[in-house]
Amino acid sequence: MAMRRPYVGGNWKMNLHATDATALAGAVVESAATAKNIDVAIFPAFPYLTHVDRVVSDSPVKLGAQDCYHQPNGAFTGEVSLSMLRDVGVGVVLVGHSERRHVLGESDVLINDKLCAAIETGLEVVLCVGETLKQREMKQTNNIIAAQTCYGLAGVRREQMPQVTLAYEPVWAIGTGKTAKPQDAQEAHVVIRKTLTAMWGDDPAQSTRIQYGGSVKPDNAADLIAQPDIDGFLVGGASLSTNDFLAIVESATG
Ligand code: PEP
Repeated sequence: MAMRRPYVGGNWKMNLHATDATALAGAVVESAATAKNIDVAIFPAFPYLTHVDRVVSDSPVKLGAQDCYHQPNGAFTGEVSLSMLRDVGVGVVLVGHSERRHVLGESDVLINDKLCAAIETGLEVVLCVGETLKQREMKQTNNIIAAQTCYGLAGVRREQMPQVTLAYEPVWAIGTGKTAKPQDAQEAHVVIRKTLTAMWGDDPAQSTRIQYGGSVKPDNAADLIAQPDIDGFLVGGASLSTNDFLAIVESATG
């Protein structure tokens, strides 16, 4: 089985103005300087990408954007293109976050357009998938996450897969304090990995990292990362606290 390097992302959502964002980025950079064998990314709000880039640019910490638009330029008021993001130092982009899907109404087609455009721009992508509570109760979890994985990655070529990370984020666990049981999360990650295998074969399915996201905290991170198919975390609320985020990164480092 491929050894997958753990990968932890901090999604700051619409939080932290310039002063707090740069201070938190500084603390993450300081600790990442000693953290070995792990990838760490932070995703500030758009207006502070440049501020945070100044802090992380000479460090191993990746600068991420929470969203993007797939068109290269033109009359798309309010949107931000991938080449603009790359210009300000962004190396990785989130697509399909549950808040984009369920609060902003993004479709699988739009998510796939964004993902393909990000890859073509040479950026890394984290594709988020996950079921709602209702879908889980109706035992639709496996179908939903397999379908979101297939639609999200449609048209991606095998050799582009090293640019892709998956994040399993059950919608009912995001920002709610409810976390998937480690065994349930593991089962969902296996479904995603089997879907990748069906699309491209064992390679790259075995080397693609799948993060778990949904109320990850320092006290549940160790049990989750102990699961064989959980390769890291996408962290929302707890990534706003230096101590909590760094404790989660440490758990993932093992
Ligand atoms: C997220 O925003 O991707 C997330 C998982 O949030 P939280 O950790 O707060 O549940």
